[in-house]
Amino acid sequence: MKEEYRKKIALLGSTGSIGLQALEVAKLRSFDVLSLTAHSNIKVLEAQIREFKPKYAAVSDEKAAKDLKVKVADTKTKVLAGPEGVMQCARADVDVVLNSIVGMAGLLPTLAAIEAGNTVALANKETLVAAGDLVMKAAAQKEVAILPVDSEHSAIFQAIQGKNDKAMIKRLILTASGGPFFGKKASELRTVSLESALKHPNWSMGAKITIDSATMFNKGLELIEAVWLFDVLPRQIDIVVHRQSVVHSLVEFTDNSVLAQLGVPDMRIPIQYALTYPRRFESPVKQLDLCEYGKLTFEKPDYETFRGLEICRQAIEKGGLYPAAVNSANEAANELFRQGKLGFLEIAQVVEKTMQALESKQDYSLQDVLDTDEFSRQYVKSLIKN
Ligand code: NAD
Ligand code: MG
Repeated sequence: MKEEYRKKIALLGSTGSIGLQALEVAKLRSFDVLSLTAHSNIKVLEAQIREFKPKYAAVSDEKAAKDLKVKVADTKTKVLAGPEGVMQCARADVDVVLNSIVGMAGLLPTLAAIEAGNTVALANKETLVAAGDLVMKAAAQKEVAILPVDSEHSAIFQAIQGKNDKAMIKRLILTASGGPFFGKKASELRTVSLESALKHPNWSMGAKITIDSATMFNKGLELIEAVWLFDVLPRQIDIVVHRQSVVHSLVEFTDNSVLAQLGVPDMRIPIQYALTYPRRFESPVKQLDLCEYGKLTFEKPDYETFRGLEICRQAIEKGGLYPAAVNSANEAANELFRQGKLGFLEIAQVVEKTMQALESKQDYSLQDVLDTDEFSRQYVKSLIKN
């Protein structure tokens, strides 16, 4: 029985926070890891190659790829270089491609996996924010499943199992931890340090998503992600701040019955569910002890202070390339903040200005998304200079 679930996986972004946790799950389930990829962290990738013995390893940074080739010359792993190498891993013959690359760099590999007919376990939310329409259409055409890894979307996906009549779904309620600055006002946030923004109360994650959680752009991006994954309208999605991150999200049905998925905040549950779907297996994650928490709280988001939420909602309501522009402008602004070149509150300001500067059509091609990415990054840069 177990053999049937010995899946063959390609793990894109294996050196990141999700990637490392996915390898823990893969090890536990004795999955066959066919390929691993990273951007430039070849030290960690080399250790992973020695442990998991993948057929392929891809490094998107060409120089780092060359160095890795030398380091693992004694192994049987073939090292592929550049973004094309990562795409090759996405196209390989596997049961599931887990995309845990951060940012827009995940888009082309997602499309490559779909094109090759591979099931995608998707952590890379930026893929759907930037090009949700194209990605979902390509997946439908190829009859490829996109399985959510993001904890909120996994919760919704779990809650709607066996209830696939979309007409029964009235509303999705995404929970948000609120990040490290919930309760603070703009005047207190003007000069926050990178260090304090990186201190997430409940989750340990990569730097970009941790800052996105502090600005609450993360929840805005997740709203857009949910629109595409579950084929609902933006107005059918509500956001509730839930500081404990125990209720991972909820679905309200036509009769006002609400189903939720709960668990301790640990990404290994949604990662494993996406990799073993539709089966469930034991996991190393701690059991939920509700009495340990005592009380679970729910509050309204502060839309005025954390502008990211409203900007993302506007972008998806406007449609076309506006979500792509917001996604790329946020990615650029988030990085500038991490480099100390932009203030915390300025992140939302430059993203909003970029959205306002864009002229978009409703129907778009992949090239339009890539052009919008370039436009948005340049626009953010130009705003910083002035
Ligand atoms: P991370 O920064 O820890 O890891 C990112 C991975 O992507 C690394 O392996 C890195 O080498 C690779 N990468 C970076 N730039 C690349 C490029 N240009 N080309 C190819 N590969 C590149 O990020 P993370 O926290 O693991 O998040 C990954 C994705 O999962 C993000 O989209 C994030 O929003 C989503 N996600 C993460 C969490 C979490 O708990 N970390 C939860 C939900 C969703
Ligand atoms: Mg999430």
